[in-house]
Amino acid sequence: MPDVPQVSTTERPVTQSTRPALSAGLTATADVIVSGAGAAGLAAAVALAKAGFSVICAGPIDAVPTGRTVALFEGSLRFLREIDVWSRFADGAQPIKAIRMIDDTAPFLPVPDLYLEADEIDLEALGANVENDRLVQGFADEAASLPGITLTHTLLKTIDFSSDAVTVEDAEGFRYAATLIVAADGRRSPARLAANIAARAWRYPQVAITALLGHRKPHNGVSTEFHTRSGPCTLVPLQGTDEHPHRSSLVWLMSPREGDRRRALDDDALALELQHQTRSVVGRITLESARGFFPMGGLRVNRLIGSRVALIGEAAHAFPPLAAQGLNLSLRDIAQLLATLRVARDRGHDIGAVASLHSYERGRRRDIALRTNGVDVLNRSIMTDFAPVDAIRGAGAIAVRLVGPLRRALMREGIMPPGPVV
Ligand SMILES: Cc1cc2nc3c(=O)[nH]c(=O)nc-3n(C[C@H](O)[C@H](O)[C@H](O)COP(=O)(O)OP(=O)(O)OC[C@H]3O[C@@H](n4cnc5c(N)ncnc54)[C@H](O)[C@@H]3O)c2cc1C
Repeated sequence: MPDVPQVSTTERPVTQSTRPALSAGLTATADVIVSGAGAAGLAAAVALAKAGFSVICAGPIDAVPTGRTVALFEGSLRFLREIDVWSRFADGAQPIKAIRMIDDTAPFLPVPDLYLEADEIDLEALGANVENDRLVQGFADEAASLPGITLTHTLLKTIDFSSDAVTVEDAEGFRYAATLIVAADGRRSPARLAANIAARAWRYPQVAITALLGHRKPHNGVSTEFHTRSGPCTLVPLQGTDEHPHRSSLVWLMSPREGDRRRALDDDALALELQHQTRSVVGRITLESARGFFPMGGLRVNRLIGSRVALIGEAAHAFPPLAAQGLNLSLRDIAQLLATLRVARDRGHDIGAVASLHSYERGRRRDIALRTNGVDVLNRSIMTDFAPVDAIRGAGAIAVRLVGPLRRALMREGIMPPGPVV
């Protein structure tokens, strides 16, 4: 088990002298400005504030229900418990006991199903599934309760870097300065652009339809993935309600053409197609939320740091929601950044200097590359109707199925990869 550094709410605050002085024209100053109040930005703001850094978290908080959830793995849950925020989500979270993967690509050589159970790696659950809007709202409530965080609720308009501070102005004309800006402002990250950090973005010929579902049969805590030629169709278990005792969330990847066709279907017709696609594993399905539609793409950045800037979350990496890696990866960014900044602070160094941020870049490169490449290879190998690729995929699945130590090592790498905190 990797070491879990302590994040104490009683840690000493950063001394005032490390922050830019509050000069005329500035509304406030802080140790860190977090650009973006999505899940990653808010989680970073909370973690940093609990470690004693003063934080300005800039951006609108969007907790509108989008009919989608986030599956967080055990490593992420440990981090959220460590920063003492998991209690905000625990009640509504559904434990994921197992993951079942079914190859539905009709390959020339059959690819066996995979069944990955938590108790194989001595866990009660592999993770938990939480509704996305509840997650964002929970982080926002926690942030609002902490005196060390200022929430601006407004987009940033300009971001300027100088040798000793980063200064921003928001859409309402308020100006803030800090020693470091954490870019958590999504794939098109304005902070990344302002820092001149190059990124390469690409598209996949896929869109995802998401929704929250009610169904007749219980899911038994099992997440079921059907791997089709246009991408996975995944039912992730959700906690039941009085009205719908059996619920799951859907992430269904398909070609844009099929996406347009299914978008035009009414709820009953879509539910019927879904029931057919999922071989009625959960019985009759009804849609119980608005649907979400997401074009699928990927993103890589040249570097994760610059003078007075560090990238996290989708500002730093993006890929399709296969194997539920996105926010899990972002929480590990935050854990590493926190460890890096605490070391810099404890040594009395400038937390925004490139030299102080190097260990963040070093600590995150491998994990990010592994997930971005892994999801890319898996996604393309499912979509490719080419017998040798199917054969390699099939051989891999057979090995994982038959070789217990390999299967357990892969599960641990997916659920609790080694790192500074998770
Ligand atoms: C269908 C789907 C299913 C998924 N399922 C999972 C899953 O099961 N498990 C998992 O781990 N991950 C999952 N993910 C990935 C996960 O949801 C994302 O990684 C996460 O939501 C991204 O968070 P983020 O905060 O980095 O980016 P965003 O959510 O994009 O947030 C960026 C924020 O920056 C703000 N912003 C932009 N410009 C500015 C500006 N100028 N000033 C201030 N703020 C600005 C935006 O308003 C936004 O709030 C899924 C993703 C999708 C699409």
